Amino acid sequence: MSKPIFRFAPSPNGYLHTGHAYSALFTWQAAQQAGGEVLLRIEDIDTGRCRPEYTEQIFDDLAWLGLSWPEPVRVQSEHFDDYRKAAVVLAGKDLLYPCFCSRKQIAARARGDFDPDGAVRYPGTCKHLNADEVQRRQDSGEVFALRLDMDKAIGLVGPIGQEYSDLSEWGDVVLVRKDTPTSYHLSVVVDDTIQGVTNVTRGMDMYAATAIHLLLQKLLGLPTPHYQHHRLVEDDMGRKLGKSDGDKSLKALRDEGVQPGDLVAIFEL
Ligand code: GLU
Repeated sequence: MSKPIFRFAPSPNGYLHTGHAYSALFTWQAAQQAGGEVLLRIEDIDTGRCRPEYTEQIFDDLAWLGLSWPEPVRVQSEHFDDYRKAAVVLAGKDLLYPCFCSRKQIAARARGDFDPDGAVRYPGTCKHLNADEVQRRQDSGEVFALRLDMDKAIGLVGPIGQEYSDLSEWGDVVLVRKDTPTSYHLSVVVDDTIQGVTNVTRGMDMYAATAIHLLLQKLLGLPTPHYQHHRLVEDDMGRKLGKSDGDKSLKALRDEGVQPGDLVAIFEL
């Protein structure tokens, strides 16, 4: 049997904090117990907010925690073509439609519904644009996102991942953003496949979104890894470290003399 492949996939849009440290240690421990290994992936599709110095700090912080990983590390911004190809497959099934709405317009037109992440659920405004208007707006250079037609997707493969969340509650999620040629949901399922990931361990904050990932895997004909969602540690970290301002970066804690063993003891891993 081939060995299990886990992954740790932080975004370099800030410094890692104690929640990331817990997630990383949890993942490496789970991989070790399963006789597998952990791949590192840098999720930097948001090129406006991600910075190379944060990526460097991620490497440094993880090494400080005593963790190691095989090279080369997959850096998402180097693989936009892979995500484009996946979007083309979905478009070929007529599952995507262009959306020109701004955040402001969406908030103004929203019907007071929220998705499982607590964000305003898209009211479907652009789903009903006729082909001529879409063409005219695209020709005039208006930027647009591509949204998944959720009803159509559910119609194709049935309700999936109901243990995680009800897909219809998400509405037509964005799969290709206006500002970058992919989205978190699309790139994460593509990369988990390309990297041969068999086991995903991540925080409970991603639990509900797993339904979307299962749906995309089914639509794209990709394998579904085994998912495990761990507890979130942020709330009690400050108290346990004797700090009043809880959510601290690993960098700041290191500067204050906190040792990796202190975190491991607090996490009770
Ligand atoms: N890039 C995500 C984060 O930084 C990880 C999501 C995942 O593990 O699927 O929280």
